[in-house]
Amino acid sequence: MDLSFSDSERAFQREVRGWFAANTPGHLRRKVVTGQMLNKDEIVQWQRRLDDQGYLVVGWPKEHGGSGWTPTQRYLFDLERAAANAPVGLSMGVIMLGPVLMAFGTEAQKARYLPRIRRCEDWWCQGYSEPGAGSDLASLKTSAVTDGDDYVINGSKIWTTYAHWANMMFCLVRTANTGKKQEGISFLLIEMDRPGIEVRPIVSIDGEHHLNQVFFTDLCVPRSNLVGREGQGWEIAKYLLTHERTSIAGVADSKAALANLYAEAARRRAGGRPLLDDPAVRIKLARAEIDLMALEYTNLRVLSSTAAGKAPGPESSLLKIMGTAVQQTLSELSVEFGGEQAWPWYASGALGETDHAHAMERYAFLRAATIYGGSDEVQKTVLARSLLGKTAA
Ligand SMILES: Cc1cc2nc3c(=O)[nH]c(=O)nc-3n(C[C@H](O)[C@H](O)[C@H](O)COP(=O)(O)OP(=O)(O)OC[C@H]3O[C@@H](n4cnc5c(N)ncnc54)[C@H](O)[C@@H]3O)c2cc1C
Repeated sequence: MDLSFSDSERAFQREVRGWFAANTPGHLRRKVVTGQMLNKDEIVQWQRRLDDQGYLVVGWPKEHGGSGWTPTQRYLFDLERAAANAPVGLSMGVIMLGPVLMAFGTEAQKARYLPRIRRCEDWWCQGYSEPGAGSDLASLKTSAVTDGDDYVINGSKIWTTYAHWANMMFCLVRTANTGKKQEGISFLLIEMDRPGIEVRPIVSIDGEHHLNQVFFTDLCVPRSNLVGREGQGWEIAKYLLTHERTSIAGVADSKAALANLYAEAARRRAGGRPLLDDPAVRIKLARAEIDLMALEYTNLRVLSSTAAGKAPGPESSLLKIMGTAVQQTLSELSVEFGGEQAWPWYASGALGETDHAHAMERYAFLRAATIYGGSDEVQKTVLARSLLGKTAA
Protein backbone atom coordinates (compact mmCIF):
# COMPACT_ATOMS: atom_id res chain seq x y z
CA MET A 1 0.00 0.00 0.00
CA ASP A 2 1.37 3.38 -0.96
CA LEU A 3 0.68 5.78 1.89
CA SER A 4 2.66 8.92 2.44
CA PHE A 5 3.94 9.75 5.88
CA SER A 6 5.43 12.92 7.35
CA ASP A 7 9.12 13.17 8.27
CA SER A 8 8.30 12.87 11.95
CA GLU A 9 6.19 9.78 11.32
CA ARG A 10 9.07 8.25 9.37
CA ALA A 11 11.42 9.06 12.25
CA PHE A 12 9.00 7.41 14.67
CA GLN A 13 8.87 4.36 12.40
CA ARG A 14 12.67 4.10 12.37
CA GLU A 15 12.80 4.36 16.15
CA VAL A 16 10.25 1.54 16.59
CA ARG A 17 12.01 -0.59 13.98
CA GLY A 18 15.32 -0.12 15.77
CA TRP A 19 13.85 -1.03 19.14
CA PHE A 20 12.28 -4.27 17.93
CA ALA A 21 15.43 -5.21 16.02
CA ALA A 22 17.49 -4.80 19.18
CA ASN A 23 15.05 -6.18 21.73
CA THR A 24 13.10 -9.10 20.26
CA PRO A 25 14.65 -12.32 21.60
CA GLY A 26 15.69 -14.72 18.82
CA HIS A 27 13.77 -17.67 20.27
CA LEU A 28 10.54 -15.65 20.24
CA ARG A 29 11.10 -14.56 16.62
CA ARG A 30 11.62 -18.16 15.69
CA LYS A 31 8.37 -19.16 17.37
CA VAL A 32 6.47 -16.42 15.54
CA VAL A 33 7.95 -17.29 12.13
CA THR A 34 7.24 -20.97 12.53
CA GLY A 35 3.73 -20.39 13.90
CA GLN A 36 4.30 -21.78 17.39
CA MET A 37 2.39 -20.62 20.45
CA LEU A 38 4.40 -18.92 23.21
CA ASN A 39 4.27 -20.45 26.67
CA LYS A 40 2.96 -18.53 29.68
CA ASP A 41 6.34 -17.45 30.97
CA GLU A 42 7.43 -16.19 27.54
CA ILE A 43 4.24 -14.15 27.19
CA VAL A 44 4.53 -12.63 30.67
CA GLN A 45 8.21 -11.68 30.22
CA TRP A 46 7.61 -10.22 26.77
CA GLN A 47 4.59 -8.25 27.91
CA ARG A 48 6.61 -6.71 30.77
CA ARG A 49 9.44 -5.84 28.39
CA LEU A 50 6.96 -4.04 26.12
CA ASP A 51 5.43 -2.20 29.08
CA ASP A 52 8.87 -1.06 30.29
CA GLN A 53 9.30 0.61 26.92
CA GLY A 54 5.77 2.09 26.86
CA TYR A 55 4.91 -0.26 23.99
CA LEU A 56 2.18 -2.35 25.56
CA VAL A 57 -1.04 -0.42 26.23
CA VAL A 58 -0.51 1.94 23.31
CA GLY A 59 -4.25 2.31 22.65
CA TRP A 60 -5.17 3.23 26.24
CA PRO A 61 -5.67 6.85 27.34
CA LYS A 62 -2.51 8.54 28.62
CA GLU A 63 -3.81 8.78 32.20
CA HIS A 64 -3.70 4.97 32.35
CA GLY A 65 -0.26 4.66 30.81
CA GLY A 66 -1.26 4.80 27.13
CA SER A 67 0.99 6.24 24.45
CA GLY A 68 -1.03 9.23 23.23
CA TRP A 69 0.05 8.24 19.71
CA THR A 70 -1.96 9.18 16.66
CA PRO A 71 -3.72 6.39 14.72
CA THR A 72 -0.97 6.66 12.10
CA GLN A 73 1.69 6.08 14.74
CA ARG A 74 -0.20 3.09 16.10
CA TYR A 75 -0.53 1.69 12.61
CA LEU A 76 3.19 2.14 11.93
CA PHE A 77 4.05 0.68 15.32
CA ASP A 78 2.05 -2.48 14.65
CA LEU A 79 3.53 -2.87 11.16
CA GLU A 80 7.06 -2.63 12.53
CA ARG A 81 6.35 -4.96 15.45
CA ALA A 82 4.96 -7.60 13.12
CA ALA A 83 7.64 -7.08 10.45
CA ALA A 84 10.26 -7.83 13.12
CA ASN A 85 8.39 -11.10 13.81
CA ALA A 86 7.90 -9.90 17.37
CA PRO A 87 4.95 -11.40 19.28
CA VAL A 88 1.88 -9.37 20.01
CA GLY A 89 0.99 -8.71 23.71
CA LEU A 90 -1.75 -10.60 25.49
CA SER A 91 -5.20 -9.50 24.35
CA MET A 92 -7.60 -10.58 27.11
CA GLY A 93 -6.48 -7.89 29.56
CA VAL A 94 -5.00 -5.21 27.31
CA ILE A 95 -7.44 -5.22 24.40
CA MET A 96 -10.62 -6.55 26.00
CA LEU A 97 -10.97 -6.00 29.74
CA GLY A 98 -8.90 -2.80 30.02
CA PRO A 99 -11.24 -0.69 27.83
CA VAL A 100 -14.28 -2.21 29.59
CA LEU A 101 -13.01 -1.21 33.05
CA MET A 102 -12.18 2.28 31.79
CA ALA A 103 -15.72 2.66 30.43
CA PHE A 104 -17.78 0.84 33.08
CA GLY A 105 -15.57 0.02 36.10
CA THR A 106 -15.54 1.72 39.52
CA GLU A 107 -12.56 3.86 40.50
CA ALA A 108 -11.46 1.06 42.85
CA GLN A 109 -11.61 -1.52 40.03
CA LYS A 110 -9.62 0.71 37.69
CA ALA A 111 -7.01 1.46 40.36
CA ARG A 112 -6.57 -2.21 41.20
CA TYR A 113 -6.75 -3.97 37.86
CA LEU A 114 -5.44 -1.63 35.16
CA PRO A 115 -1.84 -1.51 36.50
CA ARG A 116 -1.93 -5.28 37.08
CA ILE A 117 -3.03 -5.86 33.46
CA ARG A 118 -0.04 -3.85 32.26
CA ARG A 119 2.43 -5.79 34.37
CA CYS A 120 0.74 -9.10 33.57
CA GLU A 121 0.29 -9.67 37.29
CA ASP A 122 -3.16 -11.02 36.53
CA TRP A 123 -3.79 -13.51 33.77
CA TRP A 124 -7.37 -12.98 32.57
CA CYS A 125 -9.61 -15.48 30.85
CA GLN A 126 -12.96 -14.84 29.23
CA GLY A 127 -15.99 -16.67 30.63
CA TYR A 128 -18.67 -15.97 28.03
CA SER A 129 -19.55 -19.20 26.14
CA GLU A 130 -21.46 -22.05 27.74
CA PRO A 131 -22.33 -25.53 26.50
CA GLY A 132 -25.78 -24.24 25.43
CA ALA A 133 -24.84 -20.63 24.67
CA GLY A 134 -22.25 -19.73 22.04
CA SER A 135 -23.61 -17.80 19.07
CA ASP A 136 -26.79 -17.32 21.07
CA LEU A 137 -24.82 -15.95 23.99
CA ALA A 138 -27.81 -14.24 25.61
CA SER A 139 -29.21 -17.70 26.43
CA LEU A 140 -26.48 -18.23 29.01
CA LYS A 141 -27.65 -19.97 32.18
CA THR A 142 -24.80 -19.68 34.70
CA SER A 143 -26.67 -18.18 37.63
CA ALA A 144 -25.53 -15.65 40.21
CA VAL A 145 -27.89 -15.39 43.18
CA THR A 146 -27.48 -12.66 45.78
CA ASP A 147 -26.58 -13.86 49.29
CA GLY A 148 -25.72 -10.94 51.61
CA ASP A 149 -22.59 -9.25 50.24
CA ASP A 150 -21.90 -12.14 47.83
CA TYR A 151 -23.19 -13.72 44.67
CA VAL A 152 -23.46 -17.52 44.75
CA ILE A 153 -22.65 -18.87 41.29
CA ASN A 154 -23.56 -22.20 39.70
CA GLY A 155 -23.08 -23.31 36.10
CA SER A 156 -20.37 -23.93 33.52
CA LYS A 157 -18.32 -22.06 30.91
CA ILE A 158 -16.71 -23.74 27.91
CA TRP A 159 -13.91 -23.12 25.37
CA THR A 160 -12.28 -20.90 27.99
CA THR A 161 -8.88 -20.09 26.50
CA TYR A 162 -6.02 -20.43 29.00
CA ALA A 163 -8.34 -20.78 32.02
CA HIS A 164 -5.68 -23.20 33.35
CA TRP A 165 -3.14 -20.34 33.34
CA ALA A 166 -5.52 -17.66 34.57
CA ASN A 167 -5.88 -16.30 38.07
CA MET A 168 -8.81 -14.09 37.04
CA MET A 169 -11.88 -14.45 34.82
CA PHE A 170 -14.27 -11.83 33.47
CA CYS A 171 -17.55 -13.61 33.29
CA LEU A 172 -21.14 -13.20 32.14
CA VAL A 173 -23.69 -14.49 34.63
CA ARG A 174 -27.46 -14.49 34.86
CA THR A 175 -28.74 -12.36 37.76
CA ALA A 176 -32.40 -12.29 36.64
CA ASN A 177 -34.79 -14.50 34.71
CA THR A 178 -37.53 -11.94 34.13
CA GLY A 179 -37.99 -9.72 31.06
CA LYS A 180 -35.83 -10.01 27.93
CA LYS A 181 -33.06 -12.57 28.33
CA GLN A 182 -30.41 -9.90 27.58
CA GLU A 183 -31.63 -7.80 30.52
CA GLY A 184 -30.85 -10.44 33.14
CA ILE A 185 -27.11 -10.65 32.39
CA SER A 186 -24.36 -9.15 34.56
CA PHE A 187 -20.58 -8.82 34.17
CA LEU A 188 -18.51 -10.18 37.06
CA LEU A 189 -14.82 -10.44 37.89
CA ILE A 190 -13.92 -13.79 39.45
CA GLU A 191 -10.75 -14.86 41.27
CA MET A 192 -9.93 -18.34 39.96
CA ASP A 193 -8.54 -19.62 43.28
CA ARG A 194 -11.89 -19.40 45.07
CA PRO A 195 -13.38 -22.69 46.30
CA GLY A 196 -16.10 -23.98 43.96
CA ILE A 197 -14.17 -23.65 40.66
CA GLU A 198 -12.96 -26.63 38.65
CA VAL A 199 -11.02 -26.29 35.37
CA ARG A 200 -11.01 -29.30 33.01
CA PRO A 201 -8.78 -29.37 29.90
CA ILE A 202 -10.00 -29.66 26.30
CA VAL A 203 -7.29 -30.64 23.79
CA SER A 204 -7.90 -29.07 20.37
CA ILE A 205 -7.23 -30.41 16.86
CA ASP A 206 -3.64 -29.06 16.86
CA GLY A 207 -2.91 -31.47 19.72
CA GLU A 208 -2.44 -28.63 22.24
CA HIS A 209 -4.15 -27.66 25.47
CA HIS A 210 -5.37 -24.08 25.05
CA LEU A 211 -9.02 -24.64 25.92
CA ASN A 212 -10.99 -25.66 28.98
CA GLN A 213 -14.38 -26.20 30.46
CA VAL A 214 -14.86 -24.42 33.79
CA PHE A 215 -17.40 -25.54 36.38
CA PHE A 216 -18.82 -23.38 39.20
CA THR A 217 -20.42 -25.09 42.19
CA ASP A 218 -21.78 -22.78 44.93
CA LEU A 219 -18.95 -20.38 44.17
CA CYS A 220 -19.10 -17.20 46.33
CA VAL A 221 -17.92 -13.93 44.74
CA PRO A 222 -18.22 -10.52 46.47
CA ARG A 223 -20.85 -8.23 44.95
CA SER A 224 -18.16 -5.55 44.73
CA ASN A 225 -16.72 -7.63 41.84
CA LEU A 226 -19.67 -6.57 39.66
CA VAL A 227 -18.68 -4.29 36.75
CA GLY A 228 -21.31 -1.68 35.88
CA ARG A 229 -24.87 -2.17 37.10
CA GLU A 230 -26.61 -5.47 37.72
CA GLY A 231 -28.31 -6.28 34.39
CA GLN A 232 -25.87 -4.14 32.36
CA GLY A 233 -23.77 -7.17 31.38
CA TRP A 234 -25.10 -7.48 27.84
CA GLU A 235 -24.21 -3.89 26.98
CA ILE A 236 -20.73 -4.41 28.44
CA ALA A 237 -20.30 -7.77 26.68
CA LYS A 238 -21.11 -6.23 23.29
CA TYR A 239 -18.71 -3.35 23.90
CA LEU A 240 -15.95 -5.83 24.71
CA LEU A 241 -16.71 -8.02 21.69
CA THR A 242 -16.20 -5.19 19.20
CA HIS A 243 -12.71 -4.69 20.63
CA GLU A 244 -12.08 -8.45 20.51
CA ARG A 245 -13.17 -8.76 16.85
CA THR A 246 -11.15 -5.79 15.71
CA SER A 247 -8.03 -7.23 17.31
CA ILE A 248 -8.57 -10.74 15.87
CA ALA A 249 -8.17 -9.31 12.32
CA GLY A 250 -4.37 -9.27 12.84
CA VAL A 251 -3.57 -7.26 9.69
CA ALA A 252 0.04 -6.42 10.52
CA ASP A 253 0.84 -10.02 11.44
CA SER A 254 -0.70 -11.30 8.21
CA LYS A 255 1.39 -8.79 6.25
CA ALA A 256 4.52 -10.10 7.94
CA ALA A 257 3.47 -13.71 7.33
CA LEU A 258 2.87 -12.93 3.63
CA ALA A 259 6.29 -11.27 3.35
CA ASN A 260 7.83 -14.39 4.91
CA LEU A 261 6.00 -16.57 2.38
CA TYR A 262 7.19 -14.46 -0.57
CA ALA A 263 10.77 -14.69 0.71
CA GLU A 264 10.44 -18.41 1.09
CA ALA A 265 8.91 -18.87 -2.39
CA ALA A 266 11.91 -17.02 -3.83
CA ARG A 267 14.36 -19.18 -1.85
CA ARG A 268 12.78 -22.60 -2.05
CA ARG A 269 13.22 -24.68 -5.21
CA ALA A 270 10.88 -27.22 -6.74
CA GLY A 271 11.58 -29.02 -10.03
CA GLY A 272 14.90 -27.17 -10.35
CA ARG A 273 13.51 -23.62 -10.13
CA PRO A 274 12.29 -21.24 -7.42
CA LEU A 275 8.73 -21.80 -6.26
CA LEU A 276 8.01 -18.18 -7.12
CA ASP A 277 8.50 -18.98 -10.82
CA ASP A 278 5.51 -21.28 -10.69
CA PRO A 279 2.45 -19.38 -12.01
CA ALA A 280 0.13 -21.34 -9.71
CA VAL A 281 2.14 -20.22 -6.65
CA ARG A 282 2.25 -16.61 -7.87
CA ILE A 283 -1.51 -16.55 -8.36
CA LYS A 284 -2.13 -17.86 -4.85
CA LEU A 285 0.23 -15.32 -3.31
CA ALA A 286 -1.25 -12.49 -5.38
CA ARG A 287 -4.81 -13.40 -4.35
CA ALA A 288 -3.80 -13.41 -0.68
CA GLU A 289 -2.06 -10.06 -1.17
CA ILE A 290 -5.12 -8.46 -2.77
CA ASP A 291 -7.42 -9.65 0.02
CA LEU A 292 -4.93 -8.41 2.57
CA MET A 293 -4.74 -5.01 0.92
CA ALA A 294 -8.54 -4.64 1.02
CA LEU A 295 -8.48 -5.70 4.66
CA GLU A 296 -5.80 -3.16 5.45
CA TYR A 297 -7.83 -0.29 4.00
CA THR A 298 -10.83 -1.34 6.06
CA ASN A 299 -8.62 -1.53 9.13
CA LEU A 300 -7.35 1.98 8.47
CA ARG A 301 -10.90 3.28 8.14
CA VAL A 302 -11.78 1.73 11.52
CA LEU A 303 -8.63 3.18 13.08
CA SER A 304 -9.42 6.69 11.93
CA SER A 305 -13.03 6.54 13.10
CA THR A 306 -11.84 5.19 16.47
CA ALA A 307 -9.48 8.15 16.65
CA ALA A 308 -12.45 10.45 16.06
CA GLY A 309 -13.95 9.00 19.24
CA LYS A 310 -16.26 6.39 17.67
CA ALA A 311 -16.25 2.88 19.18
CA PRO A 312 -15.76 0.21 16.51
CA GLY A 313 -19.19 -0.84 15.21
CA PRO A 314 -20.25 -3.45 12.64
CA GLU A 315 -16.99 -2.82 10.75
CA SER A 316 -15.36 -4.96 13.44
CA SER A 317 -17.41 -7.90 12.08
CA LEU A 318 -16.10 -7.22 8.58
CA LEU A 319 -12.53 -7.07 9.87
CA LYS A 320 -13.00 -10.31 11.75
CA ILE A 321 -14.44 -12.19 8.75
CA MET A 322 -11.82 -10.96 6.29
CA GLY A 323 -8.90 -11.06 8.72
CA THR A 324 -9.45 -14.67 9.71
CA ALA A 325 -10.02 -15.74 6.09
CA VAL A 326 -6.62 -14.28 5.18
CA GLN A 327 -4.96 -15.96 8.18
CA GLN A 328 -6.39 -19.31 7.09
CA THR A 329 -5.20 -18.83 3.50
CA LEU A 330 -1.68 -17.94 4.63
CA SER A 331 -1.47 -20.92 6.97
CA GLU A 332 -2.61 -23.15 4.11
CA LEU A 333 0.14 -21.76 1.85
CA SER A 334 2.70 -22.37 4.57
CA VAL A 335 1.67 -26.04 4.76
CA GLU A 336 1.75 -26.26 0.96
CA PHE A 337 5.23 -24.71 0.72
CA GLY A 338 6.50 -26.99 3.48
CA GLY A 339 5.42 -30.13 1.65
CA GLU A 340 6.43 -33.20 3.61
CA GLN A 341 8.22 -31.03 6.19
CA ALA A 342 4.87 -29.71 7.35
CA TRP A 343 3.86 -33.15 8.57
CA PRO A 344 6.27 -34.12 11.39
CA TRP A 345 3.31 -33.75 13.72
CA TYR A 346 2.04 -37.00 12.21
CA ALA A 347 5.51 -38.43 11.60
CA SER A 348 6.38 -38.23 15.34
CA GLY A 349 9.06 -35.62 14.77
CA ALA A 350 11.08 -37.89 12.45
CA LEU A 351 12.03 -34.89 10.30
CA GLY A 352 13.28 -32.90 13.28
CA GLU A 353 12.78 -29.17 13.86
CA THR A 354 12.33 -27.70 10.39
CA ASP A 355 10.90 -24.27 9.48
CA HIS A 356 7.62 -25.99 8.80
CA ALA A 357 7.54 -28.38 11.74
CA HIS A 358 4.62 -26.46 13.25
CA ALA A 359 2.87 -25.30 10.06
CA MET A 360 0.28 -28.05 10.27
CA GLU A 361 -0.49 -27.29 13.93
CA ARG A 362 -1.08 -23.66 13.04
CA TYR A 363 -3.15 -24.59 10.02
CA ALA A 364 -5.28 -26.88 12.19
CA PHE A 365 -5.68 -24.36 15.01
CA LEU A 366 -6.65 -21.57 12.64
CA ARG A 367 -9.68 -23.54 11.43
CA ALA A 368 -11.18 -22.25 14.68
CA ALA A 369 -10.50 -18.61 13.76
CA THR A 370 -13.80 -18.38 11.87
CA ILE A 371 -15.56 -19.60 15.03
CA TYR A 372 -13.94 -17.87 18.03
CA GLY A 373 -14.88 -14.26 18.74
CA GLY A 374 -18.21 -15.01 17.01
CA SER A 375 -18.65 -17.31 14.01
CA ASP A 376 -18.54 -16.13 10.39
CA GLU A 377 -22.21 -16.85 9.82
CA VAL A 378 -23.23 -14.74 12.79
CA GLN A 379 -20.86 -11.90 11.82
CA LYS A 380 -22.38 -11.87 8.34
CA THR A 381 -25.83 -11.50 9.88
CA VAL A 382 -24.58 -8.58 12.00
CA LEU A 383 -23.27 -6.91 8.84
CA ALA A 384 -26.40 -7.59 6.82
CA ARG A 385 -28.56 -6.10 9.56
CA SER A 386 -26.46 -2.97 9.77
CA LEU A 387 -26.41 -2.49 5.97
CA LEU A 388 -30.17 -3.04 5.67
CA GLY A 389 -30.70 -0.68 8.60
CA LYS A 390 -28.71 2.04 6.84
CA THR A 391 -30.66 1.55 3.58
CA ALA A 392 -33.93 1.79 5.45
CA ALA A 393 -32.78 5.01 7.14
C1 LIG B 1 -10.23 -21.88 19.74
C2 LIG B 1 -11.41 -21.27 20.44
C3 LIG B 1 -11.20 -20.43 21.50
C4 LIG B 1 -12.29 -19.89 22.20
N1 LIG B 1 -12.06 -19.12 23.31
C5 LIG B 1 -13.12 -18.69 24.04
C6 LIG B 1 -12.89 -17.98 25.27
O1 LIG B 1 -11.75 -17.76 25.71
N2 LIG B 1 -13.98 -17.60 25.98
C7 LIG B 1 -15.27 -17.81 25.56
O2 LIG B 1 -16.20 -17.40 26.24
N3 LIG B 1 -15.51 -18.49 24.39
C8 LIG B 1 -14.46 -18.93 23.63
N4 LIG B 1 -14.69 -19.63 22.48
C9 LIG B 1 -16.07 -19.94 22.10
C10 LIG B 1 -16.58 -19.22 20.87
O3 LIG B 1 -16.87 -17.87 21.13
C11 LIG B 1 -17.81 -20.00 20.38
O4 LIG B 1 -17.34 -21.27 19.93
C12 LIG B 1 -18.53 -19.30 19.27
O5 LIG B 1 -19.18 -18.15 19.75
C13 LIG B 1 -19.57 -20.23 18.60
O6 LIG B 1 -20.41 -20.79 19.55
P1 LIG B 1 -20.63 -22.37 19.65
O7 LIG B 1 -19.31 -23.05 19.67
O8 LIG B 1 -21.57 -22.62 20.78
O9 LIG B 1 -21.33 -22.77 18.28
P2 LIG B 1 -22.87 -22.65 17.92
O10 LIG B 1 -23.37 -21.32 18.35
O11 LIG B 1 -23.58 -23.85 18.42
O12 LIG B 1 -22.81 -22.67 16.34
C14 LIG B 1 -22.67 -23.88 15.60
C15 LIG B 1 -22.75 -23.52 14.13
O13 LIG B 1 -24.04 -22.95 13.82
C16 LIG B 1 -23.87 -21.66 13.21
N5 LIG B 1 -24.93 -20.75 13.71
C17 LIG B 1 -25.28 -20.58 14.99
N6 LIG B 1 -26.25 -19.63 15.06
C18 LIG B 1 -26.49 -19.20 13.81
C19 LIG B 1 -27.35 -18.21 13.24
N7 LIG B 1 -28.17 -17.49 14.01
N8 LIG B 1 -27.32 -18.03 11.90
C20 LIG B 1 -26.48 -18.76 11.12
N9 LIG B 1 -25.63 -19.70 11.60
C21 LIG B 1 -25.64 -19.92 12.93
C22 LIG B 1 -22.52 -21.17 13.65
O14 LIG B 1 -21.98 -20.26 12.72
C23 LIG B 1 -21.71 -22.47 13.69
O15 LIG B 1 -21.24 -22.78 12.41
C24 LIG B 1 -13.62 -20.17 21.77
C25 LIG B 1 -13.82 -21.01 20.67
C26 LIG B 1 -12.74 -21.57 20.01
C27 LIG B 1 -13.01 -22.48 18.86
